[in-house]
Amino acid sequence: MSREPLQDGHGRTIGDVRISVTDRCNFRCQYCMPAEGLPWLDRDDVLTFEEITRLVALLTQMGVGDVRLTGGEPLVRRDFPQLAAMLAALPGVEDLSVTTNGFLLERDAEALVAAGVDRFNVSIDSLQQDRFYELTRRDALPRVLAGLEALARFPAAHPIKINAVGIRGFTEQEVLPFARFAREHPYEVRFIEFMPLDADRAWEPGKVLTGAEIRAAIEEHFALEPEPREPSATARVYRFADGNGRIGFINPVSEPFCADCNRIRLTAEGRLRTCLFSLGETDLRAPLRAGASDDELERIIRDAVWRKELKHHVNEPGFIQPARSMSAIGG
Ligand code: SF4
Repeated sequence: MSREPLQDGHGRTIGDVRISVTDRCNFRCQYCMPAEGLPWLDRDDVLTFEEITRLVALLTQMGVGDVRLTGGEPLVRRDFPQLAAMLAALPGVEDLSVTTNGFLLERDAEALVAAGVDRFNVSIDSLQQDRFYELTRRDALPRVLAGLEALARFPAAHPIKINAVGIRGFTEQEVLPFARFAREHPYEVRFIEFMPLDADRAWEPGKVLTGAEIRAAIEEHFALEPEPREPSATARVYRFADGNGRIGFINPVSEPFCADCNRIRLTAEGRLRTCLFSLGETDLRAPLRAGASDDELERIIRDAVWRKELKHHVNEPGFIQPARSMSAIGG
């Protein structure tokens, strides 16, 4: 069954939903979570696989065909590959992707590729073991790299993207190692600017190492050529002029890309967020569990999306950081 496309009040058509399948994570990245972790959701409060699948099926009927599964860390959710298979089987899911920290990838790579996951983003912020440990509070780099290699053995898993957060005072020493890594391996490295979504609320504008600065540092060593930007894409992608690989920059702080944003988000407990920086949310779990029909759920979703924010206000006076941190939103 197809329904009218899902549109917001600014004329943007929604085509991409990011679903946090758990708020739990096995890492403690400083730009996201406190060392002691966060109070986790009760299991009963988290949407079941069936509930997620029903909501995705409904969204696909409204033209939302790109589905990204995130967390916390999605691979810590029990039987996660089963959920991926349930979603991949939905006729309207055109692209199914996963964002992971890679720690459990060696265990799950084959099952996820077999389940029908089309694309993988692996979050790695340092290629140096001690610095990786410093930032994530986990001595896990070798295991993450082993997971990446395990995934890379599956042709269907490519292109594999690596997301590295750009933090001033930390990432400068990672820029060239990552540029070389992108040139020498079949992975596309993308630097993502540090965003004010950390639970410790330590973010400051001065702590953002901008995409332009990182690109300039790379261009001192390697010539880059821009690639055309896909509509609604978050990354600005460049290829190395000598043909050895690609590298990208996601600059939500210094070069916001809200004008053609086509994304919405669903939290692990079933709250619809129309923007990464939303200060409000719409509860879908309560009506879902109260027996609402698909038409009723559609009305609730359309109403919320119609009020989707035009843009974020990170760079503006009076910006209010959302109460929810990145681990409870999902990338
Ligand atoms: S900040 Fe909000 S509006 Fe801007 S691109 Fe991200 S989700 Fe879209």
